[in-house]
Order: sequence, then C-alpha cells, then structure tokens
Amino acid sequence: MALRITDECINCDVCESECPNSAIKQGEFIYEIDPKRCTECVGHFDEPQCVAVCPVACIIVDAQCEESSEQLLEKYKCLIEHDALKG
Ligand code: SF4
Ligand code: SF4
Repeated sequence: MALRITDECINCDVCESECPNSAIKQGEFIYEIDPKRCTECVGHFDEPQCVAVCPVACIIVDAQCEESSEQLLEKYKCLIEHDALKG
C-alpha cells in the first residue's frame, strides 16, 4: 500500500528529501505522497523512511491503495526504468 500524509502534517519538510522515489512533494496545504511513486520504500529500504523521520507521526498506510509486496517491488522496478529513460 502507498502511504498517505494526514492533515496533522506541520510542513516541516523533513520527509521530502528522505524519499528514495521522489514521491513526496509540498501540496497546496500540506505535504503529499504520490501513490504512483510510493513503494513503501520496497526495493530501497527495510522500512518507510518518511515514517521514520516524521516528527509528528502523521504518515499512515492508505487503505485505498492496497498492494502486495510483489506489486510494490514491480512498481519499484517500473520507476527505476521510467526514471532512467527520462535521464
Ligand atoms: S514510504 Fe518510502 S517511497 Fe513511500 S513516500 Fe515514504 S519514503 Fe517515499
Ligand atoms: S515529516 Fe511529517 S510533518 Fe514533516 S512535512 Fe513530512 S509529513 Fe509533514
């Protein structure tokens, strides 16, 4: 499952640079995670890096985006290929 940032986000900016998939960006009001780019850090790390650094624990699993670990690994591989093609 992709992760989601709740409205408890204090816009501290710590998580954005920690994401290995560039899935986190400043949104209109708070930081947001692009579910198409979030692999729960599968392929890069053993645990979600954004969750590890968030000072207010406002990053949660998005139940709307249910994915198996195989699907997350496949997404990771697609992102690597896609980003390599973009240069
Ligand atoms: S779980 Fe990993 S891939 Fe997903 S947004 Fe957080 S840091 Fe990025
Ligand atoms: S680390 Fe947490 S509080 Fe800070 S910008 Fe990211 S989601 Fe928001």
